[in-house]
Amino acid sequence: MSNYPSLHLLIGGKEISGAGRKSGEVLNPATGEVLGSVPHATAEDLDDALEHAATGFAIWRATPPEQRAAVITKAAALMRERVGAIAEALTLEQGKTLPEAKGETIYGAMLLEFYAGECKRLYGRTMVRPAGKRAEVRYEPVGPVAAFAAWNFPVINIVRKVGGAVAAGCSVIVKPSEETPAAALATVQCLLDAGMPAEVCQVVFGVPDDVSCHLLGSSIIRKVSFTGSTKVGKHLVKLAADDLKRTTMELGGHGPVLVFEDSDIEKALDVMAPNAFRNAGQVCVSPTRFIVEEPIFEKFRDGFIERVKGIKVGNGMEDGVQMGPMANDRGPDQIERMVTEAVEKGGKLETGGERIGNQGYFYAPTVLSEVPTDAEIMNEEPFGPVAIINRYAGEAEMIEEANRLPYGLAAYAWSSDPARQERLIAQIEAGMVAVNSGGVSAVDMPFGGVKWSGHGHEDGAEGVMACMVTKSVHVG
Ligand code: NAD
Repeated sequence: MSNYPSLHLLIGGKEISGAGRKSGEVLNPATGEVLGSVPHATAEDLDDALEHAATGFAIWRATPPEQRAAVITKAAALMRERVGAIAEALTLEQGKTLPEAKGETIYGAMLLEFYAGECKRLYGRTMVRPAGKRAEVRYEPVGPVAAFAAWNFPVINIVRKVGGAVAAGCSVIVKPSEETPAAALATVQCLLDAGMPAEVCQVVFGVPDDVSCHLLGSSIIRKVSFTGSTKVGKHLVKLAADDLKRTTMELGGHGPVLVFEDSDIEKALDVMAPNAFRNAGQVCVSPTRFIVEEPIFEKFRDGFIERVKGIKVGNGMEDGVQMGPMANDRGPDQIERMVTEAVEKGGKLETGGERIGNQGYFYAPTVLSEVPTDAEIMNEEPFGPVAIINRYAGEAEMIEEANRLPYGLAAYAWSSDPARQERLIAQIEAGMVAVNSGGVSAVDMPFGGVKWSGHGHEDGAEGVMACMVTKSVHVG
């Protein structure tokens, strides 16, 4: 038997079980087994959560920032203490390897620590005016936030949304994914156990669109924060528009990786090949389209395939496994369809391209090359363990390919020429650019996209400012 915890709604500090409510099953993606049952909030539960959020906002905005910071710091310490249990639940329900799940939990704690520091740096501005007059810029928490988080990072997605909001002085109602409820509940519990008033954060589950329509239909909610697909993000922005609620949208991407002849190719391969298969490729900033300069195409492709063939796939709970299953049954279906279509259109399947085993949602790490631009996988986010390696004539053509899609989340570039690095940083349309590096995420750096990848930021000082409104004060 696994140590998967029992599941509940968390409203006003009360753990509400499934009694008399609809519920959904939570499955282990490595085995297909049922782990638990997640209760769905009724309309009354959601109204209750809204009322608590209104009360919680009044309490929390009046709580001195240093007191909020102390609570958030303590919550981070609790996350560190509980890393084993949180990571185990995360791996069981989501599939990523246990070391990745532990790393995610610790990153969540680090982000809370950073947000606690930001609490103490919520400055305003005073302008120079003649004696007796005053002009000030003040920042105030926006109000109760409705947050909808995806299943790919069950802990970090929650910390990004809840942490930024509570640091700013907001209350929040969060709906984690119904597919990964336990790690999310455990994360919020750290904040409550650290002394955050119960009204400040409610956790609800349900049919996603029913919950978001209900919450966004209330004037109590002043901001909407979402991580997930561009399609759902556009839908939520339209719902938010009816009441002009502010929005932060962290949506899909289709990460281009530009690799030039003048780069350190071995280093690029060592960093980017494993990176493309982290969390089975279910990462919004995943490197997906490898845009390789013609003279090094074969060398890069062959080195990449060799490294991918060495990736050990299996149940994320087992030692030595480097890639777990996909998180749900939609994953392998989508990848299978996209890979088949890419090959029909003339792309070459270099390795992988098949499901593994007869239980769970495993799909082999897959490399495609020379895929034509009209293939679906060159245009829609695969969100799975697939990398595409194509050849291009030179810099101008490579930048054009990087910017071809409506997405603009993360982009990666490998070149040793400083002048070229600057040109790439300036010309690539993306919210985040990594040069000679595979990382685009750091607790003190804003995380977010442009174009169809969304708007607004999480992490960094921007993650807190995104939950604040500006007030200009003029005193005569
Ligand atoms: P999805 O957008 O349907 O769901 C993502 C999350 O949003 C889920 O947790 C779901 O519960 C929630 N959700 C769905 N509809 C909602 C609604 N109307 N209101 C509030 N919440 C809602 O995506 P999916 O089917 O899980 O995955 C499909 C695609 O979404 C992927 O292929 C990928 O492109 C994208 N995706 C992106 C991210 C990201 O980190 N940006 C995360 C997950 C999925």
